[in-house]
Amino acid sequence: MFLSGKRALVTGSTSGIGLAMARAFAAEGAQIVLNGFGDEQEIAKIREELGGADYVNEDLTTAEGVEALMKGAGEVDILVNNAGMQHVAPVEEFPPAMWDKIIALNLTAHFHTTRLAVPAMKKKGWGRIIATASAHSLVASPFKTAYVSAKHGVAGFTKTIALELATHGITANCISPGYVWTPLVENQIPDTMKSRGMTRDQVINEVLLEQQPTKKFVTPEQVAAIALFLCRDEAENINGANYSIDGGWTAE
Ligand code: NAD
Repeated sequence: MFLSGKRALVTGSTSGIGLAMARAFAAEGAQIVLNGFGDEQEIAKIREELGGADYVNEDLTTAEGVEALMKGAGEVDILVNNAGMQHVAPVEEFPPAMWDKIIALNLTAHFHTTRLAVPAMKKKGWGRIIATASAHSLVASPFKTAYVSAKHGVAGFTKTIALELATHGITANCISPGYVWTPLVENQIPDTMKSRGMTRDQVINEVLLEQQPTKKFVTPEQVAAIALFLCRDEAENINGANYSIDGGWTAE
């Protein structure tokens, strides 16, 4: 159990990719701090399943929310900035409030968690900062202006902190999945049907899987396996990288 004694905060870990990461870290002995929204009883069950995980329920779209999260989480050795949201609409119809919210959660929250987590990591001389970015940190798709802008920002932010923290035993890396079958993807299907005038099956096969040469959705567990590897001592020289796990999408 190579993560025994380590404390891992995974934002947005009540569902999807974040939950799979929390499970993977807990299986290696880490003490988990969960964050995210969801049904209280479901979350209580997850906490128990993860060997008594802590849970800090804060909305990360404001600096105050992130500050409260970091206060509740305490000193963490592993920080995974994973919470994210999506909205699909043509640029001229994109609601400005939704733009602000997506940039706040998908990009600015990474800055706030990181600035608050780094002092303890520096003190210990060890840390792992991992961002769940996206294939959309490398390439764009239409109708996703806020998401693509935020994810490209995360890629740049991660490279910058990787350089700043390199001599402190702290690494910072992005993982960039293609389409993973989670509520985030399922929930964007109706708006994509509207924006593109397509049926549900057409969106799945002609938009989502069309992008992935393997024609398979990535699984949350596959993404979690990369996050776990990045926490190993063998990964101490992987720093400032952006790991694609997208079936070959961004190779085109
Ligand atoms: P999901 O919807 O299953 O999970 C999102 C999590 O974020 C949930 O725990 C939710 O409660 C939490 N969350 C949402 N808004 C929040 C807020 N304001 N404050 C705190 N927590 C909040 O989605 P997912 O697919 O597992 O997405 C996780 C990350 O992976 C996101 O950053 C997403 O952009 C990224 N990603 C997903 C895919 C995909 O295809 N699913 C692909 C590439 C990248």
